[in-house]
Amino acid sequence: MTRSTLPLCFNLVPAYKVIVAYGLAVLLQISAAQAASTHTIGQLQVTIKPLPGPDGKVATLEVCEVLTDGAPEDSAPLRFSAPISVIGIKSVAASVTDLTVSDSSGPVGLTQADDAGSASDGELYHHWQAERAMGSSVTIRYRVATQPIEDRGPPYGMKPAGRGVAGSGISFLVLPENATSATTTLAWDISALPPGSLGVVSDGPDGVTIPGPPSKVRDEWMLAGPAISYSSNTADPFHAYLLGDPPFDREAILRWSGQAYHALAASLRYLGTPKYALLFRTLDGPSFGTGTARSEGGSALINLGTAFYPGQTLAGIENTIFHEMTHQWTGHLAGDPSWFSEGLTVYRAAVLPCRAQLMSTADCAAWGINVWAERYYGSQGRNWSQAKIHEVNFGDETIRTVPYGRGMLYFALLNSEILAKSDGRRDLEDALYPLFIAMRNGQQPDQATFEAILGHELGDEAVTAFHEMVIDGTTTVVPPSDAFGPCLERVTVKLQPKGSERPVDGYEWRPRHCQ
Ligand SMILES: [Zn+2]
Repeated sequence: MTRSTLPLCFNLVPAYKVIVAYGLAVLLQISAAQAASTHTIGQLQVTIKPLPGPDGKVATLEVCEVLTDGAPEDSAPLRFSAPISVIGIKSVAASVTDLTVSDSSGPVGLTQADDAGSASDGELYHHWQAERAMGSSVTIRYRVATQPIEDRGPPYGMKPAGRGVAGSGISFLVLPENATSATTTLAWDISALPPGSLGVVSDGPDGVTIPGPPSKVRDEWMLAGPAISYSSNTADPFHAYLLGDPPFDREAILRWSGQAYHALAASLRYLGTPKYALLFRTLDGPSFGTGTARSEGGSALINLGTAFYPGQTLAGIENTIFHEMTHQWTGHLAGDPSWFSEGLTVYRAAVLPCRAQLMSTADCAAWGINVWAERYYGSQGRNWSQAKIHEVNFGDETIRTVPYGRGMLYFALLNSEILAKSDGRRDLEDALYPLFIAMRNGQQPDQATFEAILGHELGDEAVTAFHEMVIDGTTTVVPPSDAFGPCLERVTVKLQPKGSERPVDGYEWRPRHCQ
């Protein structure tokens, strides 16, 4: 069947404008069973229209999806799905209302079912199935409520921010489950948003067309509304967008973020200057300043608030921004152990902003080092094994984040040891450079790759020490006093683990006079 004119959803013109930032493509892996019953369709077109409520806040998204050149009429009925819940969002599928599926013969009835199991079994989905085979062009329409801003945590949920909306595709999209295509077009209809609004998605190397199967759009960060935008010039691969009114200079934080991106690219080198889309959303009320980067890189979404959280400063938010962008350069080892992906990211976000003179020594210590050192030294899980910590995962933040601080301190120690052994000629980044070249070239470095580098650089005893400190947790990591440079020194502090009567010894780093 040849491609016919695409049926359109809503009024796409004239108030229709999409800005697409570019990132890396990723292919979805589907099981053999899924593949066997999957229809190949011409294209999926998704259009999202944010609808403000009476108070001007976006309360609802109206979504229209069109599948063209669809399955033959004698094939299995089409199925659709949405997650029941995802990290920090209790109800994704349950927020969907007014779902209709139709073809040239009219609407079709739908049967519904949930995956069996519990949240601990991984991601569970709600499924809708058409009650009859459908024609070649299928239209799916539904409404989905935006998520309550009170739910904190990673910024996946699609939430109102300022007079717009931002979040992740996984938090609201109902997508074909047994129909796939090579590309999906993803478009905003911003006609109901204030004048001057724009729409952004994080990926899309060919305009608004996203390569990969429909589920790929679940991995997109999305933002629409009257946002400010920034890039240093027309050739700048870095683009930033900010919605709402945080309690600091909006243009200045976008400029700072651009400088941070270029400092990362220049310092870590092996990716060149990849295209990057950094999205900010300002939620009503104080925000922890959390963020999440796409696992495949190219984009991150940062949570801001209309006020600072008690004790929070702009430097804390800057550290979060630097951390999330650093993930692009750290990537992950096979199996994604957090001691590497988070530990090395926290280490780099502790030292690189100071080296690039983007933050003061005191702020690097406070937000880059000591926040994480306290989460390690002061946690009841500081001497737990990586495997035991992994079992807890999102069940207890004081345990889950131990590898962040433990990894950061371990990499600081490792850097000191490599510098000492080479009389200052080599450092941690020199040693790890081949691992990142392998990662960039599509290979999958794993823990054994890291241990081989470690053994080559510092000998077998360094591999043993790595296991004791990081994998088994039996030895507490204590980097030398000058591990974070000559302008910071280590001091002993008393910390109070959660649920424990007795304080424990820990360490933090404080500024000292230096040349
Ligand atoms: Zn992280």
